[in-house]
Amino acid sequence: MKELHSFGWYAAKLKPDLPKKAFNPVPERLWGGLAYLLVTVAALMTIGIVDVNPFFYIPLSLIIGACFAALGFLGHEILHGTVVRTPWLRDFLGAVAFWPLSTGPKLWRKWHNLTHHVHTQHEEHDPDAWPTLDRIMKIRLLRWVYRLPHPVRAFFSFCSLSFQFSVHSLNMFVVYLKEFNPKKRPAVFMEAILPWVTWIALLVWVGPVKWIFMFLIPLLIANLIVMAYISTNHRLNPTTEINDPLANSLTVTVPKWVDVLHFNFSYHTEHHLFPGVSSKYYPLVKQLIKERWPERYHEMRFDKALTALWLTPRPYYNKELVDPNNGNSFGTLGHGLDPDNIKSSISEKMYNTETLVSLMTEGKKQEHAKDQ
Ligand SMILES: [Zn+2]
Ligand SMILES: [Zn+2]
Repeated sequence: MKELHSFGWYAAKLKPDLPKKAFNPVPERLWGGLAYLLVTVAALMTIGIVDVNPFFYIPLSLIIGACFAALGFLGHEILHGTVVRTPWLRDFLGAVAFWPLSTGPKLWRKWHNLTHHVHTQHEEHDPDAWPTLDRIMKIRLLRWVYRLPHPVRAFFSFCSLSFQFSVHSLNMFVVYLKEFNPKKRPAVFMEAILPWVTWIALLVWVGPVKWIFMFLIPLLIANLIVMAYISTNHRLNPTTEINDPLANSLTVTVPKWVDVLHFNFSYHTEHHLFPGVSSKYYPLVKQLIKERWPERYHEMRFDKALTALWLTPRPYYNKELVDPNNGNSFGTLGHGLDPDNIKSSISEKMYNTETLVSLMTEGKKQEHAKDQ
């Protein structure tokens, strides 16, 4: 097995090969944000002013949804401090960019920058890591869900991408609010509430039909776009004790024009090595990684990564992905998962079935003890 290294270890090795200017903020990224903002406002106003059969609003809803998602990608960059450095301006611009997804900048920085980036794919400490099998087995609802056949679960889990970001963001608000200094909590609370106040005010103003096309459908589309990327970022990789981005992250490849529209969000391994460097430089970081550690680096076509996600179960068990429904186990990237030939390992199957039964029984017992 390859020895794991922290993201700092890789970054220190590559830093001398990057130009100095790569470590400066790139405020020109805001022009893209302005363009998305103008298109969004124009489309919202068109739906608001023009009264036609709502069917004709659908293309505009799709455009607004795509803009919401792209603004989210820009918000991610802004809040890493790679666009502007002044803290209040960074938070203000980040708040505007994340307004459609209704995630406040202080919450995002705590959840994403300070927790996900620091503890990536750690079984307990990464709030975005998919749970391990024994954690899943302790939750009654999930035990039931994982009894369903895999294709049914895959179908519903792909449908859920259209709301997963919003739901997870609300959950993170509940989890992290109490961890903020009491003096900061009102600000965190306001940042979470204000976007919703405006969206609900819009509902009162334009009525439910137009609101569905101006906000609800775009929000589902935006969730789907950002979650399609986010679900490929780490979920095919193993959980890792050491935060090694080459082991625990995946870069997906998309056509160049998609990278332009999405601010290079596809370069996720590069992003975990240099979260403080503008994504403008990630193609160069990628080239440097591939020169030094080609055998460690994982990249995959976006559609292939999504197909692999559909075909594999999610719960982690050691370095594998295991299906509690039938005990089938699959490798993870770097541990036997071949995206061109996804198949379960039969030799592991019996072993896992026995383990599953004991985990289920243990989970039930623990839950029962807690109830009493
Ligand atoms: Zn990540
Ligand atoms: Zn990030």
